[in-house]
Parts: sequence; structure tokens; C-alpha cells
Amino acid sequence: MTHTTLFICHYSEIGLKGKNRNYFIKALKSNMRKVLKRALPESVFRIEHVERRFIVFFEDAVEITRVYQNLNDVFGLANFTAVQQTAPEMEAIQATALELLAEKQYNSFVVRSRRVHKILPINSVEINRRVGAAVVEKYHKKVSLKEPDLTCNIEIFKNKAFVSVDKRKGPGGMPVRTSGRVLVLMSGGFDSPVAAWYALKRGAQCEYIHFHTYPFTNKLSQEKVKDLVRRLNKFQFKSKLYMVPFTETQKEIVAAVPDKYRIVFYRRFMMRVTEHLAQQRGISAVVTGESLGQVASQTLENMAAVEQVITMPVLRPLIGMDKNEIMDIARKIGTYDISVLPHDDACTRFMPHNPVIRARLDEVVEIEKALDVDALVARDLQKMELLEI
Ligand code: ATP
Ligand code: MG
Repeated sequence: MTHTTLFICHYSEIGLKGKNRNYFIKALKSNMRKVLKRALPESVFRIEHVERRFIVFFEDAVEITRVYQNLNDVFGLANFTAVQQTAPEMEAIQATALELLAEKQYNSFVVRSRRVHKILPINSVEINRRVGAAVVEKYHKKVSLKEPDLTCNIEIFKNKAFVSVDKRKGPGGMPVRTSGRVLVLMSGGFDSPVAAWYALKRGAQCEYIHFHTYPFTNKLSQEKVKDLVRRLNKFQFKSKLYMVPFTETQKEIVAAVPDKYRIVFYRRFMMRVTEHLAQQRGISAVVTGESLGQVASQTLENMAAVEQVITMPVLRPLIGMDKNEIMDIARKIGTYDISVLPHDDACTRFMPHNPVIRARLDEVVEIEKALDVDALVARDLQKMELLEI
């Protein structure tokens, strides 16, 4: 089956408890509609929520690979499949299964059926057995319950049945928007876009903040961050990106802070600005791309010295990941190609040669007395620019 007029999509049961259920389903349906609109005009498909699954009806036959590709961007979907509709009777179901299997390459198979409405006089095990026997007889294939090359899925409703041979695993997770909003500290590197992806995967809606040192760094670095947000919009559709000119603050830090402590101070100021913005926006957590021990600034002591300036939770989805694991995900989600482009990090221009590994909080607090913290933060916030991406 390379074309179909019907798809069935299942979601995972997580988050479906109590009052959240309707909200979860509404958000998931709306996200599905948004991704399908990328491939097709809205007038040619309809999504219905029936008996704990979604059925997508297409007006004309559509190319199934395009639908799979798009649905793969919808967090909350556990699996989906193109289906063939038939009558809810054994003979019709069997004939449809044989017809669909005629096009497939496989050695072993299994049949799995679900009776959504129990209208047939036999149970699912018996349905599986009968359809399986018909396949063995006609195509001489082998049944394998444990490791089949192919699974034939059957769902039986009151007045129709659906047969499929192409069920694919969805991305899992929770629908974007159902877990609240987070503010992502976004650099042009590999890690923060992957951290954002993890937050999106668990249903958070992401807003992004980036600190840049234009004109010391070129405009391309800002373009890169915009491109990363655009790429992540695959999962969230549209985003707010806050751009903060950080040059003035960095200069004052350079003037007042010993070389080895500068990164810790840059980050402390970034955190303060980020928390203020989050509070203004009614956002309750911050996300960074830090991973324990990856670089000097990501030791426990340094993370503590940075986090000390805010009270909001700082989420670090990559904390236990190795760099190569992060890169693999970046490739999978399409941010790798953008992150790999050369860029001037906001900090590299003023980068110390020997950054401190274990920041001492008492020293940090003492040094910071030379800076007018509130004034610097207020100025950064005032110069901040909002981009709708
Ligand atoms: P990344 O690959 O995300 O750049 P990194 O491994 O380079 O991370 P750092 O440069 O130490 O690590 O940055 C740690 C985290 O601090 C980043 O993941 C990001 O969340 C945040 N961050 C760093 N620089 C900036 C910036 N210029 N603007 C916003 N956030 C930043
Ligand atoms: Mg970086």
C-alpha cells in the first residue's frame, strides 16, 4: 500500500488521567492538524477521535510516506498506520489482509487484532488464528510471535474494520503545550537545541533566549540561532526568540572580574536576565544544554555558583549524556547541520585561558560587589528584542 485514504493513530496512555485527558486530546489533535497541513490543504483531511485513537480521513488517496514523515513530528503519538477499511466480518477482513500482504516482502509474520466493539462471535486470539492460517495457506509464510518481519494489525468496530500492515512507532512523549512553558537558554552550539528538543518531547512549550555580542560577533551567529529555532519549530510550529545584546555587560565583567572567573560571571548575568524574563512571561522553569563535566564551566561547583543567583528551577535534560549521544540526537532532529556551521560564541571573544574548575562561592560573591548587578540586568532587559519565528 503506497497510497491510502485512512490512517489510524494511537497515543500513549501517559497523562490521560482525570481532567487532563480532554486537554491532552485536544492539543494532540491540533498538533496533528498542524503537521498534516504542511503536506496537504486542510480541506482534504479530517481528524476524528474515536475510542481512544485518532482516525484521519483523507478525501483522496495520499502518499503514505509523506504522512508518516509528518506525523513523526507529533509528540504524544505512540504509533500510526495507514489502514484499509473493510466490513467487520471474518471473510472481508481475511480478504483485505491477503490483498495487503500480496505487496509486501517478508518471511515471518504475526496477526494482531483488537475488538474495539465486540460484535464478532469469536475472540481476538481466534481472529488472529484464522487470518494467520489463511496467510500460511496462500503465501506459505511462517508465523512468528516473537520476532516477526511483519505484523498485520486488525481493529474491529461496530460497523467497519481496519486492516494494516505498516504500523510504525511514533515519537512518543507528550503533546507540545500540555506540560507548561519553559525558557531555553539557546546558544549556537550542539547542546542547547537538543536540550530544547527533550523539553518539547515531554510536552513543554519552549520560548528561547539568546545572548549575543554584536558587533564583536557577526550577524551570522544570530542567524544561526534563528535557524535552529526554525528547525525546532518542526515540533512546535512557532516560537518566541528573545535576543539580548550582551556586549556592554560583558565589557563590565571583563573590567571587574579576574580572567579565570569570567565565564561563571557571564552565566550568572545570563541567568538573572533569563529569570526576570521568565517571570514576566509567567514561565516557571529554565532549560540549559549543560552536561555534567563536559567543559570547565559545567562542573558541579560552577553550575552551583551560576544557579545561586536565581530561585527558578534550572532543567538540564542532557546532564547524563555523552557528547556523541547528543550529536546523534542532533543529527536525528536536524539541528546538527546548523550547529556545525562556524560561529562566534558570545563568550569566545572574551574567553579566559584558564577558566576556574571549582568556583568558590564566597570569592564569587566578593568579586561581584564591584558590579552594579541590578543596573546591568535592567539594561540588558531593556535592550532585549523579541523575534517571532
Ligand atoms: P552549547 O552546545 O549549547 O553551546 P556548550 O557545550 O557550548 O553548549 P557552554 O558554552 O558552557 O556549553 O554553555 C552551556 C549552556 O549555557 C548552553 O547549553 C546554553 O544553554 C547556555 N548558553 C551558553 N551560551 C549562551 C548564549 N550566548 N546565549 C544563551 N544561552 C547560552
Ligand atoms: Mg556553547
